[in-house]
Parts: sequence; structure tokens; C-alpha cells
Amino acid sequence: MNLDLSPEEKSFEAQVRTFILRELPSDIREKVRLDRHLGREDYMRWQQILGREGWFTGAWPREHGGHAWTPMQTIIFNRVAGELHGPELQVFGPAMVGPVIYTFGTEAQKAQHLPAIRDSSVWWCQGYSEPGAGSDLAALQTAAQDDGGDHYIVNGQKIWTSFAHFADWMFCLVRTGREAKRQQGISFLLIDMKTPGVEVQPIRMMDGRHYFNAVFFNNVKVPKRNRIGEEGRGWTYAKFLLEHERVENANLRFITQELQKLRRVASQVRSNGRRLADDPGFMSEVAAVEAQFKALEVGLLRTLSDMQAGMPAGPGKSSFIKVRGTEIAQRITELLVEASGPDALRYQPGPLFGQGPDHETIGPAHGLGPVATYLFCRAMTIYGGSTEVQKNIMAKHVLGL
Ligand SMILES: Cc1cc2nc3c(=O)[nH]c(=O)nc-3n(C[C@H](O)[C@H](O)[C@H](O)COP(=O)(O)OP(=O)(O)OC[C@H]3O[C@@H](n4cnc5c(N)ncnc54)[C@H](O)[C@@H]3O)c2cc1C
Repeated sequence: MNLDLSPEEKSFEAQVRTFILRELPSDIREKVRLDRHLGREDYMRWQQILGREGWFTGAWPREHGGHAWTPMQTIIFNRVAGELHGPELQVFGPAMVGPVIYTFGTEAQKAQHLPAIRDSSVWWCQGYSEPGAGSDLAALQTAAQDDGGDHYIVNGQKIWTSFAHFADWMFCLVRTGREAKRQQGISFLLIDMKTPGVEVQPIRMMDGRHYFNAVFFNNVKVPKRNRIGEEGRGWTYAKFLLEHERVENANLRFITQELQKLRRVASQVRSNGRRLADDPGFMSEVAAVEAQFKALEVGLLRTLSDMQAGMPAGPGKSSFIKVRGTEIAQRITELLVEASGPDALRYQPGPLFGQGPDHETIGPAHGLGPVATYLFCRAMTIYGGSTEVQKNIMAKHVLGL
């Protein structure tokens, strides 16, 4: 497969580079460069700048207001954003619920939600996992009871809900039936987080950040018109969404950014009097992970091309991308901790919350926070479906075991 860029792709790359250099606010770029905490306002500001260009949803079909980016354009955008310290984009709207709404939603749902996803004026969160339903998602118990009129009454609890404390809306899996086949009793609801009875409680992560939450529903009244598709068919929409989510977990932007840091650290740090960049043992580890990253890009390009041609990624391919993308990201952060030596430990959670002394002044000499990033990356092989479960899926769908 030829990964060289065509003249059109080179011109697109130059356009993205010029745009990010000109439009990415310098305070946000510095936060990303120095691994500082980003708040809702930072993410929204950048996403809204992209939204004005139609680039927050660049890969969406034109009929839904996107630019129908080719898979290569999506890869180019992520690569350049990684190189230029663009923040992570919140994919809950553009890559998760957006495609579900434009594929399965009513015209009224499309009119209500798609414009607000495109311009990033609304923040979405994902209400799938529950205390007893993570890998075994079909075990979920949050109940939506028909009130006999136009509403469901929702009771139950979600957990590990990323950014629920920032979110305006949640897409949520609920139980509307008790069929013997558990998947048949699940429906897909859109819930306004301001509805009375929705309570968000923070859960602190081991890297010190407040990233995810427990969300409780106590007699929450949700209009039936907020249900996607048919009652009891939520599992179909949920799986469609998970395939998109797992492809997003290739983490191209993040890996590009962390590889850049790794090369910079290797060129600065000395071990036994010589630069790590001149240490063949260390650099062969870096080369190995770079080669794996190239292979991942090829796999991703193939999968995105299939999806664009209307073929579903399929559970095997999206699981492969998810496993490789997250393992590569973790490996790079391990190498960064190794390369930073004792500096890697000089991590203080305070600055991540904007408290205490500045990260740069107390952090490692290179302005990095390798331990914080390393700790966060432990979660990558859990969220979106754990690596063990993805391997089970590949064994079944690819190897036929
Ligand atoms: C940072 C982070 C953000 C998250 N954000 C969200 C979010 O926004 N919304 C949301 O809904 N969820 C979210 N999650 C939840 C995530 O999807 C679940 O953690 C994940 O699906 C695993 O479920 P669990 O934690 O219940 O672990 P369990 O399912 O209890 O698994 C525990 C362990 O057992 C292993 N295991 C389980 N079943 C099998 C099996 N059949 N074969 C082999 N091994 C198995 C798992 O691999 C894991 O190691 C997030 C999680 C994290 C860490």
C-alpha cells in the first residue's frame, strides 16, 4: 500500500498546518505542550474554531454538513495536530453519537442535535458502563419504564462516565425490556443532563485528575422522542457506535505528539555521559515502536477506507486498531518515563488542577509530566472495551475460534 501523499494530500496537509499555526490559541498550545490540565473552556474554544471551518466533523458526509474527508485526510489532520500541540478532540459528539444520529435518528433528532455537534456548542458524554456491566455490557440494569404516555422514567446508575461533569447531553443505554436474550431489552436514549434527577459524582483517577464520574438517575423523565430508533434495538446502535469508538482509539494525534517528545528527550538526556539518542539499545526500542506505529497507520487507512465505502469496520478490525493503538501509546509513555529517569517522578497533581506552583517550574527540566501521562495511559487498554475482551473478539471473528 502506498503511503506517500498525493499532490492533493500534500496541499491539504499544508492547509491544515497553516490553519493550526494561525488559529490554535497560544495559551492552549502551551498547555498541551507542557502537559497541563485543560478545562471545558479550552476544549470548547478550539473545537469551536475547528467547527467554524467544518473541521470538527470533517469526516462526516457532506449531506450532514461534513467535508467527507478521505481516510488519508483524517490521518493527516491527526498527525499535524499532534505535531503542532493541538489538544485532544472530544469524540463523543463527532465520532460517536453523531454518526448514530445521522444513520438511525429521526429528522427531528438530526435537526436538533447535528448542528450543535458540528459547531461544538454542546458537550456529549457516554452512559454505557455500570457497576455490574463493563465488559459484559448487556448485563446493564438502568431501567427506563414506560409511563404510559410520552415519557420514560429512568432509574439506575452509570459509572466511569468520562467528562459527565462537563456534559450537556448523554447518550445512554437503558433497559426497556426483560427478554431472555438480554441484548433485546436494551434501548438507546438521549438524555439532557439538566433534567431533574440526574446527579453527577466525581471519581478521581490515579494520575490525580478528575476525568470521570458516577452518574445517578432518580426518576428522570425522558421524552420518548429522545429514543434513537426502535425500542429494544439499542444494542444494534450501541455496537455500531463502539466500532467507531474503537477506530478512534488508534490515538494517532496522541502517539504523534508523544513520539515527538520521546525524540526530544532522547536528544537531550545523557546516560553515562552520552546522549540517549546515541545509545543503540534505547534507540532500537524507539525504532521498534515507530515501525509499529507505521503498521498501525496502514491498518487504520484500510479500515477507514472500508468504512467510507459503506462497509462496516467489523468487530475484528476495529478491535485490532484499538489494541494496537493503545499498546503503542502505552509503550511510548513507558519509554518516556525510562528516558526521563528521576525527573519522571517529579510530578505534582496540584498544577493539573491549576493550583500551586506552575508545572514548568516544579516539573522535569524538559517541561514534561511523564508519570502523569504514563499513569493515564494505563486506562487506555481498559476503556472502550479492555484488551482482553478485544482479543476474545478477534479470536472469534478473525480466527474463528
Ligand atoms: C479512563 C476511562 C474512561 C472511561 N469512560 C467511559 C465512558 O465515558 N462511558 C462509559 O460508559 N464507560 C467508560 N469507561 C468504562 C470502560 O468502558 C470499562 O471500564 C470497560 O468496559 C471494562 O469494564 P469494567 O471496568 O467493568 O471491568 P470488568 O468488565 O469488570 O473487567 C475486569 C477485568 O476482567 C477482564 N475480563 C472481563 N471479561 C473478560 C473475558 N470475557 N475474558 C477475558 N478477560 C475478561 C477485563 O479485561 C479486565 O481486565 C471508562 C473507563 C476508563 C478506565
